[in-house]
Amino acid sequence: MSTHAIPEGVGRTAIGVARARAVESRRPDRLFDDPYAAAFVTAADGEVRERGPGEVSPGLIAMARHLVVRTRFFDDFLLAAAADGCRQVVIPAAGLDTRAYRLNWPAGLVCYEIDLPEVLAFKERVLAERAAEPVARRVALVADLREDWPAVLTGAGFDPAERSAWLIEGLLIYLESAEVARLLGQVGELAAPGSRLALTHGSGRWEESPRDRGEPAPELAPVMKLWKGGLAEDPVPWLGRRGWRAVRHDRAEAAVSYGRPVDYVSSQRIFVTAERLPAVTSN
Ligand code: SAM
Repeated sequence: MSTHAIPEGVGRTAIGVARARAVESRRPDRLFDDPYAAAFVTAADGEVRERGPGEVSPGLIAMARHLVVRTRFFDDFLLAAAADGCRQVVIPAAGLDTRAYRLNWPAGLVCYEIDLPEVLAFKERVLAERAAEPVARRVALVADLREDWPAVLTGAGFDPAERSAWLIEGLLIYLESAEVARLLGQVGELAAPGSRLALTHGSGRWEESPRDRGEPAPELAPVMKLWKGGLAEDPVPWLGRRGWRAVRHDRAEAAVSYGRPVDYVSSQRIFVTAERLPAVTSN
């Protein structure tokens, strides 16, 4: 396969997220401005156009709104972690996330992005065509997150002794529960006390598919076929038993706080943030 190919399979899901960010970035009241999202969509699928009711299902519109709220929520999370002194940001499954380019990072911050080879090759090509310059020092790393990615990260300069901020957005549902447990265990080993973690969690069941007023999004059926369920239990107590102080966030509250509608209401799909606690030593 050419390294310039458009990502397929789970990698293609990143283009769907970029589409929602591209449309949002055109709004006068946008919650963020992603200047490269439209370029990714155009390179993959042609012109970006907002599709309204009648063209797409209410569930797909609700999903796009969800992605927008989620993006802004995690922008705020990462900037708060950076303001609090974390100078290493790690984004496993970064996809077409352009936070290294578009957020106002403090000097000296390093942003590590990890994803599959075809996704990062596509991303590099589109960003290079636009002569994009990151605000943070950006380190893009090819790795499969089901394998030994910590060696790749530490080999690229990540220091586990220093605090870090981690964002796992839109990934876990594409992994089996045991794979999620292993991945989060690896993150725990790399996260010094005081480090931050944010993630999205959902069960991956059809009844929790994106929907608005009861109608699911049939357009998302191919994506949902890729869902493997994610962590089989509530991540908040799960993380709590593994050295994190974790908090569940109400997505509807976040939407309201940003002045956006609450139309994607499954209580099972949540945002979680956590802080790494100091190791307990027994003597
Ligand atoms: N976090 C990004 C965002 O919110 O814009 C991308 C989310 S996208 C829905 C899911 C991403 O997970 C894709 O970029 C895909 O390539 C990546 N991914 C899925 N499985 C992976 C794996 N085993 N190793 C590395 N990346 C993976």
